[in-house]
Amino acid sequence: MRIPEKIKIGAKVYAVEETKNLSLGSANYSGEIDYCDLVIRICPNAPKKMEADLLHEMLHGVFEFLGYKNHDEKRIDELANALHMVILNNPELFMPEKETEGKSKK
Ligand SMILES: [Zn+2]
Repeated sequence: MRIPEKIKIGAKVYAVEETKNLSLGSANYSGEIDYCDLVIRICPNAPKKMEADLLHEMLHGVFEFLGYKNHDEKRIDELANALHMVILNNPELFMPEKETEGKSKK
């Protein structure tokens, strides 16, 4: 997977920034989501770590979209890691239609 420039969640389009400047501070956090300015900030780290962090923040955005007020960080992390695993194990899931043409379809 790759780190996109933006992620649309519902009607909101979050800009994705790679930066060490988190308002939460980068000592204890490696990503954050700003629901007011619609920004997801991810610290530059190893690619797989950044992907997991992006999915973590994206899930906060999904929970916010669903109207959940208090997000369980452990639950978000579990879902992010599980989603990351499924995405990496099934790359053809998200390939554009053209690239899957010619392969068997059922
Ligand atoms: Zn979190």
